[in-house]
Amino acid sequence: MRNTSVIELSKEALCNNLRFLKNRVGDERVYSSVVKGNAYGHGIEVFPHLAKDCGIRHFSVFDSFEAYTLHQSFQNHVKIMIMGMVEPEAVEWCVENDIEFYVFDQFRLQQALSAAKKVKKPARIHIELETGMNRTGIPRKLFEVTLNTIRENEPLLEVKGLCTHFAGAESVANYYRIQRQYKMMHNHIKWFEKRGFPRVKHHTACSAAMINFPKTMMDMVRIGILQYGYWPSRETFVNFLGKNPDKHDPLKRVITWKTHLMDIKSVKTGEFVGYGTTFMAENDITVASIPVGYSHGYSRSLSNHGRVLLHGQRVSVIGLVNMNMMLIDVTNVENPQPGDEVVLIGSQGDLDISVASFGELSNQLNYELLTRLPKDIPRIIVD
Ligand SMILES: *Cc1c(COP(=O)(O)O)cnc(C)c1O
Repeated sequence: MRNTSVIELSKEALCNNLRFLKNRVGDERVYSSVVKGNAYGHGIEVFPHLAKDCGIRHFSVFDSFEAYTLHQSFQNHVKIMIMGMVEPEAVEWCVENDIEFYVFDQFRLQQALSAAKKVKKPARIHIELETGMNRTGIPRKLFEVTLNTIRENEPLLEVKGLCTHFAGAESVANYYRIQRQYKMMHNHIKWFEKRGFPRVKHHTACSAAMINFPKTMMDMVRIGILQYGYWPSRETFVNFLGKNPDKHDPLKRVITWKTHLMDIKSVKTGEFVGYGTTFMAENDITVASIPVGYSHGYSRSLSNHGRVLLHGQRVSVIGLVNMNMMLIDVTNVENPQPGDEVVLIGSQGDLDISVASFGELSNQLNYELLTRLPKDIPRIIVD
């Protein structure tokens, strides 16, 4: 039985993006592919396999459950790093299976230590340092005790990295804050070096940082949104174009989200369409329904704003996005029929719909809409 919509993943597009990105990152740095949030909606069961086929050997996830899912697929054939939550009962499993994870407080450090003792294997950790985001990260005043604990338990705590995360590298508005974070990270690294700390991997860069502040790439990058073919913000894209003479977007969208027309009807001038009064027909129009709504991850905030592709033309979402369906204005489309393909995200003919193309709507919607694509929509690999 088929679902009302499908998500196609283009391997060709992904390999293209990874070639471009790895080329900028260089061979001497580690490229970590960020696949948290169900691989930004692309499917954590499917996407990492494509990425591995395109040469990726290092993945970053948010939590221990995502790490577990990845490990089920790959065993120890790829490196896995957890950047956020490790459930207490999963710490031992991580140590046992060589899963690397962030430590940003003394509690986690102690957990890592006891797990290592129990499993009789070193815990492989990345020390996250506070540089000004004030989310997670060890503050300067606790460096000393952290270092002492590490020293006293040398073989059991194997530090793989010193890292931090920037608080919004995609926006010029945050320029000074990011610069301050970058300088602080340097000072932190020096603090450790002065005390004879071994040379571990230093990493700070996400997609936006890599493009806007290439020096943040250090020894390793953690790249999410760019590899899926989306820019973290319009500013980042414009900044990139400014520095690149050939002025074209090197990225290709990996996802195409498709459905089909369900029903078609005529609506007379002056009639309201759908629930309430948010849309009134100003002419005689043809309206089509499609079987996708907010329960399928199509944001309700795209009511009267969204655009979809039909017969290679851009058409508008009209009225409110309902739970299971929405309406589009197909007046200018020649002979639309139930069953005709509708593209919600991705390309059809010469046109392309990315979430960010919906005018004033924030780029954050790229991340949000993608990650909200329900797990049960089938992911199909094409080319
Ligand atoms: C999500 C995340 C990234 C990747 O961010 P993108 O903007 O998608 O590249 C990198 N580092 C950390 C700590 C993250 O949480």
